[in-house]
Amino acid sequence: MEVHGRAALGPSTPLTPFVFSRRELRDHDVKFDVTFCGVCHSDIHQIDEDWGPGIFPMVPGHEIVGVVSAVGPACSKFAVGDRIGVGTFVDSCRKCEFCRRGDQQYCQESDTPTYNAFERDGVTPTYGGYCDQFVVDEEFAVRIPDSLDLAGVAPLLCAGITVYSPLRHWGVTTGTKVGVIGLGGLGHLAVKFAAAMGASTTVFSHSANKRDDAFRLGAREFVNTSVPNASGDESSSFDLIINTVSAPLNLTSYLDRLRLDGTLVLVGLPSRPYEVGAGELVAKRRSIAGSMAGGMRELQEMIDFCTRHAITSDVEVIDANEIADAFERTRASDVRYRFVIDATTF
Ligand code: NAP
Ligand code: ZN
Ligand code: ZN
Repeated sequence: MEVHGRAALGPSTPLTPFVFSRRELRDHDVKFDVTFCGVCHSDIHQIDEDWGPGIFPMVPGHEIVGVVSAVGPACSKFAVGDRIGVGTFVDSCRKCEFCRRGDQQYCQESDTPTYNAFERDGVTPTYGGYCDQFVVDEEFAVRIPDSLDLAGVAPLLCAGITVYSPLRHWGVTTGTKVGVIGLGGLGHLAVKFAAAMGASTTVFSHSANKRDDAFRLGAREFVNTSVPNASGDESSSFDLIINTVSAPLNLTSYLDRLRLDGTLVLVGLPSRPYEVGAGELVAKRRSIAGSMAGGMRELQEMIDFCTRHAITSDVEVIDANEIADAFERTRASDVRYRFVIDATTF
């Protein structure tokens, strides 16, 4: 099977056209024509080796949607013509307690990332969604209802689930006071979800020109953090603050804003560690936590939630030859609010 896509041939190199093959269908595999793939900031981090050595050639992309074109003989979940999506992982051990409960992203033996990794055989590289065809075991794909726009669904597969999962885990509901740091791909979906859950949401952004969008997306307050001593609600009143920023950040002022037992959840993954003082945590029994994407059970739950609330990502659809420009604009925080590649242009 000849697959056409884009790959980085080495660290921090521009993507170039890349032709490769995918496996023949196994019993439980589905093959699908990719229609759209989102551009996640994690794609840029990994090409730039921000988190460690990468595996090259690297075909990035883990926000993949498409239409099933063939199924393996034992596939029971999907049929040709179904709309499906694949997120940040394509396999896991399937046996440990976390896999069994649908939290494959926390697999005891580690999940199999969608790209920049090896299959469970340890030698076959995984290639992501910046391409025109994909093959995956049916257990690792979700069904997408006809009512949702496919381009707008793609970013839900990583950006969406990465913020949906902590909002759920920390019990956000009517009246919860939520802060979202960074209005990018993850951040803008966090604002939409939190609003739909009934929370009162504040956006902390260093881009003053995102103010109107923050309110349109459902925020009640906007704090421009690029001005010294940014105001907003300074009292210790937040139940939950989600940090989606891709760069290092001073966390102190955000910890100060948490109420008793409040939690600062880190989902952004900068290359350098944060500095944290014990005082801010001790004072009000606050917590700092992290959260990674979401498993298959929660992915389907999020798609159902989005269907009920008619939520998709705000997207700018681009051609394959515009990826370099999209990377630059993402690096510059100039994304409104997710670039999505039209896979027919590969
Ligand atoms: P993105 O679209 O680029 O959004 C990041 C936002 O952070 C920017 O739009 C900007 O918002 C803010 N920001 C960027 N640089 C900043 C700086 N120097 N100072 C202050 N604010 C800054 O990125 P994304 O795709 O949403 O991803 C965000 C982070 O989450 C990345 O590190 C990514 O790797 C990580 N991630 C983690 C997971 C996980 O499982 N935990 C999953 C997906 C992504 P404002 O303009 O509003 O300030
Ligand atoms: Zn991602
Ligand atoms: Zn497992």
